[in-house]
Amino acid sequence: MTEKFDAIVVGAGPAGTTAALVMARAGMKVALIERGAYPGAKNMFGGVFYYSEVLNQLIPEFWKEAPIERHIVRRVTTFMTPQASVSMDYENSNFGKPPYNGVTLLRSRFDRWYAQKAVDAGALLVPETVVDDVIRDGQRVIGIKARRDQGDLLADVVIAADGVNSLLAEKAGLKKSKELRRHSISVTAKEILSLPSETIEERFNCAADEGVAIDFLGACTQGIQGAAFIYTNKSSLSLGMATDLNSLREHHISIADLVESFKEHPSVKRLVKGATLKEYSGHLMPEGGYKMMPKLYGDGILVAGDAAAMVFYTGLSLEGVNFAIASGFYAGEAVKAAKAKSDFSAASLSHYQKLLEDSFVLKDLKSFRSASSMLANKRFYTVYPDFLCTMMENMFKVDGKPRKRMWGLMRQSMKGKISMMDLAKDGMQARKALL
Ligand SMILES: Cc1cc2nc3c(=O)[nH]c(=O)nc-3n(C[C@H](O)[C@H](O)[C@H](O)COP(=O)(O)OP(=O)(O)OC[C@H]3O[C@@H](n4cnc5c(N)ncnc54)[C@H](O)[C@@H]3O)c2cc1C
Repeated sequence: MTEKFDAIVVGAGPAGTTAALVMARAGMKVALIERGAYPGAKNMFGGVFYYSEVLNQLIPEFWKEAPIERHIVRRVTTFMTPQASVSMDYENSNFGKPPYNGVTLLRSRFDRWYAQKAVDAGALLVPETVVDDVIRDGQRVIGIKARRDQGDLLADVVIAADGVNSLLAEKAGLKKSKELRRHSISVTAKEILSLPSETIEERFNCAADEGVAIDFLGACTQGIQGAAFIYTNKSSLSLGMATDLNSLREHHISIADLVESFKEHPSVKRLVKGATLKEYSGHLMPEGGYKMMPKLYGDGILVAGDAAAMVFYTGLSLEGVNFAIASGFYAGEAVKAAKAKSDFSAASLSHYQKLLEDSFVLKDLKSFRSASSMLANKRFYTVYPDFLCTMMENMFKVDGKPRKRMWGLMRQSMKGKISMMDLAKDGMQARKALL
């Protein structure tokens, strides 16, 4: 006989695990299905988990027991040309105190630790199981088809938390597959590079347990839309890059080659000197945010986390895990409310959308919905890093010639690179996206 659950959650990433934890704690019969050998086995991200009040509510002072690498006390944004770089370096000692503004993590450890919390609460974790489709009764989703011997699984509600390529949201008719192509998708690559902890602390100028997050724009991607990063773990560095899939194709270059040449940049080479490659992984990432979101609910189904494109990306900030946890929480809460009414219709589950709209999740994604258009502007990856580095060079270079005042320096650094008209247009675009 086909087994029936109150809820089936597909994907044991931060979104799915949170939803499973919330529902299991409410006494519901929950299955958490994961294709990896264990939660986190197949998951990667850049590496900084920004503070989640939702997680703190679910697991008070989670930082005391979660497998955290380092507390991020410095955030650096670096604009680079092939020879030079200009950095905005922000340090805050308060970020090194609980509840910690951001911490570095390795997903293979964090996701596993977190999913165990859902299991402890009573959820049934089913690893090594790929879900291929939803089962429907008319319009209503009533279960899933999984690649397993025991057959299909039925449930009052299915939560699709299966990440950026969400097959389930598509199969349930909530997302059109061509949407994935129409909006920006980043292809990403990440290396974990082993380095002794003392070397990290010396090189990145941080104390034990403290860490640095550096984001790079400009020559790191050779002018292709994207960014690179280096984040410090306990005794390794997370180094990687996210680049727009379409731009990468246009430039006929692989992301692996870009990463290699990034490591050769003079500002990067000394940071990674002597480090040995421990792990390499690649992934896709939705950039489109609010504009890329599918319908979030249907009869018997909800979509959470990356599956719903809930990634907050402005070029300066990249947050996905805290958004995934919050959306999983509200999905779980919406299902609890639906169960109390025994009504799993789309109308009843639309409560999920309302909860998200009242929270930072949809408020932030909505406020910064124009960021994706700004990020598609090639000048942010070519002209502006070049302009900033030239401006600094013109300011600091001593060559025996009379010096220019600031406005003159600016005009000299802009010459042949950008017109006043384009500068004004880009300023307007940035204002719309960020201010
Ligand atoms: C290169 C890169 C850097 C990033 N950097 C950061 C960062 O520094 N900070 C940050 O907060 N966010 C970052 N993000 C975003 C962040 O990783 C995601 O937003 C977050 O992981 C989303 O969580 P999720 O649970 O929705 O999806 P995921 O973490 O992708 O989890 C989905 C789960 O579903 C499983 N699954 C998928 N399909 C199936 C199926 N058919 N059947 C069964 N199981 C399935 C997967 O194995 C996976 O475990 C980054 C992303 C990338 C790609």
